[in-house]
Amino acid sequence: PPVKGSSETNGRGGASVGGKKGISGMVENAFRGSVQQPQAQRHGTSGDKGPGEELPEELKGCDPLLIERIEQEIIDRGDPVTFDDIAGLAFAKQTILELICWPMSRPDIFTGLRALPRGLLLFGPPGTGKTLIAKAIAHQSGATFFNISASSLTSKWIGEGEKLVRTLFRLAAYMSPSIVFIDEVDSLLCQRSADENEASRRMKTEFLVQLDGCGSAAAAARVLLVGATNRPQELDEAARRRFVKRLYIPLPEAEARHALIVLLLRTNNHQLTPQEIEQVVTRSRGFSGSDVHQLCTEAAMGPIRDMTAGLAGDITALAVADVPPIQFRHFLEALSTLRPSVSEKDLDTLLAWNDDFGTFS
Ligand code: ADP
Repeated sequence: PPVKGSSETNGRGGASVGGKKGISGMVENAFRGSVQQPQAQRHGTSGDKGPGEELPEELKGCDPLLIERIEQEIIDRGDPVTFDDIAGLAFAKQTILELICWPMSRPDIFTGLRALPRGLLLFGPPGTGKTLIAKAIAHQSGATFFNISASSLTSKWIGEGEKLVRTLFRLAAYMSPSIVFIDEVDSLLCQRSADENEASRRMKTEFLVQLDGCGSAAAAARVLLVGATNRPQELDEAARRRFVKRLYIPLPEAEARHALIVLLLRTNNHQLTPQEIEQVVTRSRGFSGSDVHQLCTEAAMGPIRDMTAGLAGDITALAVADVPPIQFRHFLEALSTLRPSVSEKDLDTLLAWNDDFGTFS
């Protein structure tokens, strides 16, 4: 099958879904009678459909326009992410490989007790790689990646939330293996509050039903819901129970920060010695992966600032070859302006929740 998320499959609107079944095409045909170009097919149905083509059997009863919107706005065909792009997190990677990736790619071996769990929760401080992990799972197991943030469910999709959730899971089953990634899942599946409206209550119930898999086509299919949250303590008990596996994604330790800095510096000319890199690692204690990324970005601006200091902001005359390498002092300058974005208090809350509810094996 084509590589998920590769740039070849990145065309939006009309192209096949990641080189699988051409649902857009079928939707367009159903509605406009247009003829869609041939698509690579996984289940053996030809994509070269004639006018008046209807939705495939498995999606009968779904709203074709909603399917089309999901294809365009939720299916993520961004650049592929591999586990090698993710620094540190060895425990999470190994656990995910065994629990998720293997069952996804070998459902014939991973049956019964070994079957793919329905829900995986990734929790931890913001900017630690939760989204990257979900993308890497999709890529490594050749799954279609549905990416939606809970805040967009309660804003952009409000009004059709319940229907969207049902259609999303039907489509995910049809295009399986699939990962349905919900960022900020706590705001969707939080404990009941007095101001919760009827629409979001129904959407939440639908989610729980889908997670249980009862009566849904997703039950037999390889569809994994991956939720990410910085506030797992806000999830209610019903939601928590359905995320059978709950993995803590911590702040990067020194070794992981080191790996990340080396990874990021690879893309630019620099003159840091191994000892200086070690010092940056030490001084960035408490930084999240995203803070480290910001630190390196800021340091990389140093040489440009040095050069343009006398040019009054005019960079038109600069030659690429004239840009000096990034130096240790640029990192020191950047470090003096940045602070860790995660507080000790938030970390304590997360660690306590991990002790109570986290998955350790
Ligand atoms: P979140 O945990 O909030 O979902 P993301 O996965 O979106 O965080 O990470 C945000 C950014 O931070 C990434 O795009 C990447 O640049 C950087 N980053 C965070 N953690 C890592 C990591 N472990 N390895 C590589 N990059 C990371």
